[in-house]
Amino acid sequence: MKKKRRIAIVGAGLSGSVLAARLRNSFDVTVIEQGRRKRPLFHEIACSDGGINSSINRGAGLGGTTNYWHNALIELAPDELRGAGIEPSRFADYYRQAWSLFLSDADLATCNRIRDANAASLPAGRAAHMVVPQARANVWEHAHRWFPGDPITVVYGHAERLVQDGANGPTHLLVRTKSASTRIEADRFIFSAGGLATPVLLASSLGIEEKLCGGYHDHPMAYVAKLRLRPSSVLRDVSCQDTSAGSVRTGFVYESGGLKSVFYLRPALTLGVASITGEARYVLSDLRNDPFSPRKILQLLTNVEALREAVLFKTRAGFRGDYYSVLMLGEQHAISARGVHVSPGRTPALNWEVTPEERSAHARGLAQFLDEMAPQIADSNCIPADRWEYRTAAHHSGGARDFLASSAAEGLEFFAVRGLPDTSVCDASLLQRGGVANSGLTLVALCLRLADALEQEPE
Ligand SMILES: Cc1cc2nc3c(=O)[nH]c(=O)nc-3n(C[C@H](O)[C@H](O)[C@H](O)COP(=O)(O)OP(=O)(O)OC[C@H]3O[C@@H](n4cnc5c(N)ncnc54)[C@H](O)[C@@H]3O)c2cc1C
Repeated sequence: MKKKRRIAIVGAGLSGSVLAARLRNSFDVTVIEQGRRKRPLFHEIACSDGGINSSINRGAGLGGTTNYWHNALIELAPDELRGAGIEPSRFADYYRQAWSLFLSDADLATCNRIRDANAASLPAGRAAHMVVPQARANVWEHAHRWFPGDPITVVYGHAERLVQDGANGPTHLLVRTKSASTRIEADRFIFSAGGLATPVLLASSLGIEEKLCGGYHDHPMAYVAKLRLRPSSVLRDVSCQDTSAGSVRTGFVYESGGLKSVFYLRPALTLGVASITGEARYVLSDLRNDPFSPRKILQLLTNVEALREAVLFKTRAGFRGDYYSVLMLGEQHAISARGVHVSPGRTPALNWEVTPEERSAHARGLAQFLDEMAPQIADSNCIPADRWEYRTAAHHSGGARDFLASSAAEGLEFFAVRGLPDTSVCDASLLQRGGVANSGLTLVALCLRLADALEQEPE
């Protein structure tokens, strides 16, 4: 039997899991994953702001961050895809395949019918359509069910860098395991270590000791207001609809200064903003991911209103009520001054800042939302924009930009790294624009596209 080409994938998170399973029958696949245990990553990046290290923003172990994710699936809008160098018409089939990995055809058709009805009942272009399937899925386990077949070798260790033996010699990956340093040899390498770790690996593989890896963006979030809806308001009906497959959520999208803001409604008890300010505002979600944190348990006990509203949201009972919190997710531009800074002997540091221009754009977005939806809203209590408490949404995107060969290319070239032959990037760090969409579904679609390109590559 013909020997398969060897492929080494760094990181067994969402992207690494999909790629490994999808490629297992056409390549000899080795995955390098730093975590033997599934555990949250709290301390591998220096960042004092935005909850990066105080809540769960990344995970190690098979499945990576999907051990903690919400499994909320949403497509990038066509203009966002174009901004990311992806032609929407040629990507549609990959999105279709990605959806089919999470939902049956019948369930997807139901969700799409709800999407179309919701879009028709709102002003044109305002609806962001998101599906949250019933059960959260660790994608390592899921991907093995989607793509069964040949064994995948898992090496547990921390990948440090790619090393080339001489000018045209073979390349190997240097991996620090518990007991030693080891070399992983392969014909192709894929970096899927996540949006914060991949830029660090690329810099060290290229021998760059000091650099701000620019282009990082997220869609940071902040609670911005409470609303009381009118009894006839359409916003109540479209915000959340349950089906047997899961929950269909609609956000309301506005744009100002070339930046999108999306507003999601969450059930509330009153117009008071105590439940959506201070540390307790995300505490139930934080506790689900990190259940034994005494600090978080204390926060919860001191803000009972936040707890009661979180229960209304989780049980979805409150979605037919009158009061709602407004959670804003705001797009960020992929600017050069924002990203992971690598420096010799130091923990990589993330500059995560939401710029004054972005803050103003999102404040204008809220004003547009309140203005256009005024007939739906009986009363509101807005938090002044200079007091919005932004926090990361953990879609650490775009940080590989400075290393990519071409962000507008097709095929393998789209994923290629300048100066590192036979090496691709496929994880959130590849995404040059994310709009206000959660990135997971797009990453699955990108993995499927890369897998096709790899299989079509002549040997
Ligand atoms: C709490 C939470 C909820 C989320 N909810 C959603 C959601 O509902 N919908 C959505 O679309 N997205 C969501 N996201 C974001 C989503 O999970 C990420 O966008 C996605 O998982 C990123 O996938 P990835 O492949 O880039 O990296 P990850 O899933 O983060 O995987 C990276 C993997 O690489 C490993 N690794 C890193 N460095 C090294 C190294 N040097 N050597 C070896 N291994 C290494 C890590 O241990 C990890 O397993 C959420 C994120 C968080 C934190």
